[in-house]
Order: sequence, then C-alpha cells, then structure tokens
Amino acid sequence: MTSRTAPPRNPIADVIGERNRQITKEGWTEDHDDQHTGRELAAAAEGYLASAISRADGEDVSAPPEGWPFAPEWWKPKGYYADLKRAAALILAEMERIDRLAEREGCRCEACNEPLYDGDPYFGDDVNGGAYHDHCLGDDIDAFTDGEGNPLPPGTPRPAPSRYTV
Ligand SMILES: [Zn+2]
Repeated sequence: MTSRTAPPRNPIADVIGERNRQITKEGWTEDHDDQHTGRELAAAAEGYLASAISRADGEDVSAPPEGWPFAPEWWKPKGYYADLKRAAALILAEMERIDRLAEREGCRCEACNEPLYDGDPYFGDDVNGGAYHDHCLGDDIDAFTDGEGNPLPPGTPRPAPSRYTV
C-alpha cells in the first residue's frame, strides 16, 4: 500500500491533450483527417468506446472490434479511461472535419442559416433552390411540394428527408 494518491484528473484537458497528441505525434493533421470522408474517425471513436465498455464487462478487447476502420495494427486499446479519452478525441476530430467540410461546401440552411453537415437529414427546395434542415421545416405539410413546385394533396404524409452529402 502506498500513501501517494493520484492527482485529480481533468477529463476535458485530457481529451484536448489527446487530440493534440494525435495531431503532433500521430500526424493526423487536418489534411489527413479530411481524407477520411467515410466517417472513419467516428467509427474509430465508436470502436474505442465499445472497447472501453467491453473491457469493463470483462471481455477480451485485444482484437479490433467489428467496424474498426483502420489497419489492425492501429488498434491499441489501453484501459477504460484511456479508451474513453481516445474516443472523445476522435469524436472531436470528426466534428472538426465535418465543420471544415461544411465551411468549404458553403451550403447553409435557408431557414436558420446554419451549415448543412454531411449526413444531415434535409430537403432541397424544388422551387427556389437551396436547402433546409429537416428539423427546420416542421410538420406543416404546406411547406412541402411534389418535386415540381406543386402543393401536396391534403392528407399526404410528411415526406421523408434525404441525407445531405457533400
Ligand atoms: Zn436549418
């Protein structure tokens, strides 16, 4: 037994530190991250989050989980806290990536003027061009048209949104 106690952790600082480590030590720069257009960063975060939970449940996490997007040698689970930290840092990286993508693409919702991110449910404006977030249109059926600018007949169910892709 030891009288030393671990210093208190600072999870937010730890996540930011891990994010910076990924950039400076692993070389995962913005340009590098921008090439992962298939949501690999999010999938990697999911892998580490799942690993953290599985390890806590006593499962073997030495092999990459299903859906791990990178080569097996990049799978380096360490422990519950460390894997949560890496998942969070990867989520930050993915959030930054889709922010840059939205900024480059320059497409903003006609209703709220916020960017449309890759994967957002949305509707294109058949009449005037432009795009709307699904959640910005509400449930009023009068907001929707049939694809040629005509109102939908009364009683028509609310159309399903498309998924925005950049
Ligand atoms: Zn909107």
